[in-house]
Amino acid sequence: MRPIVDEAPLGLVRARWRRHPRHRNRNRFRKRKRKRKQKRNGGTTMRTDRSRRLEADALPDDAEFALCLTHDVDRPYKGLRGLYYATQERPGYHLRTLLPGSNPYWQFESIMELEADLGVRSAFYFLNEQHLLAERPVREWFSPSNWVQHLGRYDVTADEVVETIRALDDGGWEVGLHGSYHTRDDRDRLREEKQTLERVLGKPVAGGRQHHLRLAVPDTWDHHRSIGLEYDASLGSAAECGFHYGYRPIRPFEDNGSDFLVFPLTIMDQALPDPGTEFEAARRTCERLLLDAARNDAVMTVLWHPRYFNEREFPGHRRLYRWLVERAAEMGAWIGSPGAFCQHLEGEIEVEAEAESDADAELDARDDPEVTPVTGSKADSDGKTRPARETDPGGVTDAADPTESEPVGTDSPTARGES
Ligand SMILES: [Zn+2]
Repeated sequence: MRPIVDEAPLGLVRARWRRHPRHRNRNRFRKRKRKRKQKRNGGTTMRTDRSRRLEADALPDDAEFALCLTHDVDRPYKGLRGLYYATQERPGYHLRTLLPGSNPYWQFESIMELEADLGVRSAFYFLNEQHLLAERPVREWFSPSNWVQHLGRYDVTADEVVETIRALDDGGWEVGLHGSYHTRDDRDRLREEKQTLERVLGKPVAGGRQHHLRLAVPDTWDHHRSIGLEYDASLGSAAECGFHYGYRPIRPFEDNGSDFLVFPLTIMDQALPDPGTEFEAARRTCERLLLDAARNDAVMTVLWHPRYFNEREFPGHRRLYRWLVERAAEMGAWIGSPGAFCQHLEGEIEVEAEAESDADAELDARDDPEVTPVTGSKADSDGKTRPARETDPGGVTDAADPTESEPVGTDSPTARGES
């Protein structure tokens, strides 16, 4: 990672710090990141602050803009839904594809090949719905909309899905959570779905998107954050493309010192003109949004459902997706998954915080005689000694100015936890 502040003169670092005197208090509640860092550094505390995080919002690799690629895995099997299509059009084809062994919605390998060919990686969000008869309350059995939801349900612990999830992860794709229909208001259910997916994946998931973009703002994000997710990508429209929620990811809980990120959705495949019949119109819409993204250093997030990659059933969608990625690359975009984007930000934050931590340790040594070096000291080039480590970055300032205390809110370690 490119060190940004490492080479900054000490005066500059100090001036920035002076402009944001509250940061020491904010930092006290940024436990999670700090703990990880502490572990790596063998117990050293670190600092991040709001100003640092804003500065760290630089796009990866000095890109013109960022394009985040995502796929919601809703119905990997054509299954019973095919019966519905069979009554509408091309009945012979749709009935044939219901035969065992023929599965036109199973597009994982083909998407992986396409993206590997393009040199990009995306995120796949897996749905983990409850079984309507086995797990949902009886009153819900009688709602037709619940049956529509239920048709085509898949099991993330089924052998072929487990294998797929692991193959995606091995290949560098992001595997995320597609929170099921009822989880918008159900933190416990959301946590269960996340835990099941993580058991399959063998590691934590960073984020995902709610099925049908069903969000209660900000409650659903609070659920996400409290169960340990770092981001959500549900904010958007299934009917309209565009930057309706701004050009950059949003931090809804920034005032609580939380880094939780929201990636607004720019394009959902079904909101475009049908590329099967109006390819040029669909391409022009994408082009307009790419140019808009480049003009505004945007983070543009797109959703292509895996079944749309079947050119026979959904002509034009795969071709358009390829065009979009190639055009974005041509325009100098960083292209990847939202999780990879978060990792980039985290890397930038930590690089900056490391530099700041060193610089602040030096400042503390000069300004605050109370700070005690705990792991020894080392000589500067000018012969003076300074602490190499510090014990509590917030303590001295807190005591000096009690009015600066930050609301702990739901970002306290207990509220964040899995209890
Ligand atoms: Zn969905």
